[in-house]
Amino acid sequence: MRMTTSELRNAFLEYFRQQGHQVVASSSLVPHNDPTLLFTNAGMNQFKDLFLGLEQRAYNRAVSSQRCVRAGGKHNDLENVGYTARHHTFFEMLGNFSFGDYFKQDAIRFAWEFLTGVVKLPKEKLWVTVYETDDEAFDIWSQEIGVPVDRIVRIGDNKGAQYASDNFWTMGDTGPCGPCTEIFYDHGEHIWGGPPGSPEEDGDRYIEIWNLVFMQFNRHADGTMEPLPKPSVDTGMGLERIATILQGVHSNYEIDLFQALIKAAADAVGTSDLDNKSLRVIADHIRSCSFLIADGVMPSNEGRGYVLRRIIRRAVRHGRKLGADKTFFHTLVAALCEQMGEAYPELNTQRPIIEKVLRLEEEQFARTLDRGLQLLEDAIAELGEGTVLPGEVVFKLYDTYGFPADLTADVLRDRDISIDEAGFETLMQQQRERAKEASNFGVDYSKTIKVDGATAFTGYEHLAQPGKVTALFKDGEPVNALIAG
Ligand code: ATP
Ligand code: MG
Ligand code: MG
Ligand code: MG
Repeated sequence: MRMTTSELRNAFLEYFRQQGHQVVASSSLVPHNDPTLLFTNAGMNQFKDLFLGLEQRAYNRAVSSQRCVRAGGKHNDLENVGYTARHHTFFEMLGNFSFGDYFKQDAIRFAWEFLTGVVKLPKEKLWVTVYETDDEAFDIWSQEIGVPVDRIVRIGDNKGAQYASDNFWTMGDTGPCGPCTEIFYDHGEHIWGGPPGSPEEDGDRYIEIWNLVFMQFNRHADGTMEPLPKPSVDTGMGLERIATILQGVHSNYEIDLFQALIKAAADAVGTSDLDNKSLRVIADHIRSCSFLIADGVMPSNEGRGYVLRRIIRRAVRHGRKLGADKTFFHTLVAALCEQMGEAYPELNTQRPIIEKVLRLEEEQFARTLDRGLQLLEDAIAELGEGTVLPGEVVFKLYDTYGFPADLTADVLRDRDISIDEAGFETLMQQQRERAKEASNFGVDYSKTIKVDGATAFTGYEHLAQPGKVTALFKDGEPVNALIAG
């Protein structure tokens, strides 16, 4: 069955509405009142308090298509973009939820019916995983649904492994969690990769499409697990991954929506090499950056704003690599609105602001980008056979040229050179100390703040508030003033 991304989103919401689920709108990418979370990373985030039994609503079944960003925090896919067929920084997660209502049996039955009945995926291409000790889920799959046992894989919690399957899902270091069962799709033997649980699973042949989590515990900071008041269900399926299958292609970047963005990016930078990896990165990044700005995040030097700044600068660098010789990134917002403005009307209403913020950020970075890249080339030449770029160079690029460390690492990745992270971190720490000492003497450095690196990314300590501009300046004027004017 062929479906566009929008048709698929609607079909999912409609199927679960018919099964008695309340359709709930996507929440913001900036989590409301949750300091444990950098960005919304799953459909369940907005329902966290319902799972914990701290909040009651008029419904106990819900369905949503949730915008998510995984570019920091526990779930971080920034480094995967451009390298795998299935990862984005921004994606939509389709999900159905039960708050103490149905549990394993119905969750599995609904998922199977949607995949094989509604959108008609061939059953023989589907594989499932269950938590290693979850005999109940295993039996439902094998006896009630009829999946052959050689396509059901038991998997434990793979702590520390970045890609390998992990059948115990946690939202972050704390919060609701539980064992899960996942559904994979076999894209065929012409693609490299092995079934879930095998050493080659990280290839892109067997791609995970849907995770059904049986929420049973609340994990506390000290690691203890407290049972939830009622067993619940939280599921998440990547809209782009299922669209990929239904459109008969292999990579998420080949679906209708991404092809349109890639085409727009190619035109904007002036290339005709549509398969170029950098175009995929740019097409990915225009989505996360635009949606983050629409949700009130502004580029800055700390917290959420710094993650946004890093993504914008990476996109700009990839554009430059493809030959862009003028500001291009903001011109892609038009194509994005065309693709997603109907599902997310706020994109259209916020469009002028998004374009302006992206343009200013690109202009600002463009002033130092070329010189920074030159410095980097010189440093690489000096490395000779070496494979680790010294921390001083990474720091200088950061401090003087506005290169976030991950951007420098991104440039080096294709050449098999890594950065001296510990050395860089030491220099950053020294800079923080200096700034602290200076402020102890009562000098106000905020007036002379340099956008390219006066403050370090300090994780969760200084989270930007939605709508609050923290530190984006142009010609001495904060951007919010420019936006207002
Ligand atoms: P993967 O193992 O492929 O990285 P995951 O196990 O980290 O995925 P979950 O946390 O289980 O993903 O999220 C539920 C679903 O959301 C996944 O099954 C997948 O369909 C989708 N998804 C997760 N991460 C991404 C991403 N970065 N881009 C697009 N879709 C994603
Ligand atoms: Mg992942
Ligand atoms: Mg996984
Ligand atoms: Mg998963």
